[in-house]
Amino acid sequence: MRQSMLLTKTRKEGLKDEVSKNANLLIRAGFINKEMAGVYSYLPLGLRTLNKISNIAREEMNKIGSQELLLTALQDKEPWVKSGRWSDDVYDIWFKTKLKNGTEIGLGSTHEEPLVTLMKNHIRSYKDLPVSAYQIQTKFRNEVRAKAGIMRGREFLMKDMYSFSKDEKEHEIFYEKAKVAYSHIFKRLGIGDRTYFTYALGGTFSKYSHEYQTLAINGEDTIYCCDECMVAINKELIDEIKECPSCKNKKLIERKSVEVGNIFKLGIKYSEPLGLIYIDEKGAKKFVFMGCYGFGPSRTMGTITEILSDEKGLVWPVSVAPFKVHIVEISSENKKVRETSEKLYDIFTKNGVEVLYDDRDARAGEKFNDSDLIGIPLRIVISEKGLEKGEFEIKQRIDGKVFNIKEKELMDFVNKYN
Ligand code: ATP
Ligand code: MG
Repeated sequence: MRQSMLLTKTRKEGLKDEVSKNANLLIRAGFINKEMAGVYSYLPLGLRTLNKISNIAREEMNKIGSQELLLTALQDKEPWVKSGRWSDDVYDIWFKTKLKNGTEIGLGSTHEEPLVTLMKNHIRSYKDLPVSAYQIQTKFRNEVRAKAGIMRGREFLMKDMYSFSKDEKEHEIFYEKAKVAYSHIFKRLGIGDRTYFTYALGGTFSKYSHEYQTLAINGEDTIYCCDECMVAINKELIDEIKECPSCKNKKLIERKSVEVGNIFKLGIKYSEPLGLIYIDEKGAKKFVFMGCYGFGPSRTMGTITEILSDEKGLVWPVSVAPFKVHIVEISSENKKVRETSEKLYDIFTKNGVEVLYDDRDARAGEKFNDSDLIGIPLRIVISEKGLEKGEFEIKQRIDGKVFNIKEKELMDFVNKYN
């Protein structure tokens, strides 16, 4: 992509009414636009990153055999009445509205009720189980506090997966697979070494739910970490559990964190009131045993922003960067500089390397500042001086390290950089 064509521009200052670090940085870099508190639009750069995060989750869900679908955001009231969650007194984050004929409907904040209702048409016998489905979809929640930028939106993206099994034993097998998938997701996102498998309250059919908590100083949660096994305990449980549930280590360190995902057993919490049953091997009717598995692509994008950025701007891991390479052309009026930049842009594009090419007629300082702010992993500067030396200067955004690379080694260097 040519930067001269990019529809967003960077800004020097953040917004006065935006208190979060992540939203302000992303707004300054032209990744998102603030519509109102807790509501943000994704601009071309931001959407590329958000889609990459979602795709990593998608690939890992597909690998464990879950099937993608897309449920509606407009929701029928009836299943929610049956499950007991329609009332605002029980479930207080609803956005509700009315059809022209007066019928009340809800805007989806989660999808247990509609999916369980839908699965009644598809699960009949034990032969139909186990099965699982997921979606990557916009959710609406009337959050009381929406002060953490895209880490707590009133409209946000969620990957929600649901599993359907015969019984608890069959459920556990899928649950273990989901754990592995989740650890792959966080590793691929570049935050695996800061994300703790955390014991929390909130399980319906088990004592605990499991959260994936990523360390971040501006995080809303507090966890107690065992650094031996990357397991933690949520603050709400610390009076109950005083040692690492995994290795019994008593040295737990208190830290701030963000819940980027959570998984837990639902058991028959929804299949019972909504009547999701199957016929077992002996012909008996049983309720389907469920699990649910959430992950927040937009919250995770905010978290990556918060923890990896530096005083100059964003710093993206290659896996989620909007582009891998930023070609920054200095003194574009120089014919050789222009030709070389165009040639490189062309070669990279043809080889499937994602490149942002700063072909704008702007000062070098401005281009470098913008490049740092946008945070693309590799910057290649094309300047008269560099060309005289017969080498390209490549700078790693993450640590500022500079490499001087000959043209014939350039593609190899970029391909190997991950
Ligand atoms: P929290 O306790 O932080 O409100 P939650 O328990 O309500 O989270 P779930 O309903 O299980 O979260 O949602 C699954 C995932 O969706 C969360 O782990 C998180 O990554 C993401 N998520 C939840 N609420 C929001 C939000 N308001 N904005 C952005 N992402 C969210
Ligand atoms: Mg919540």
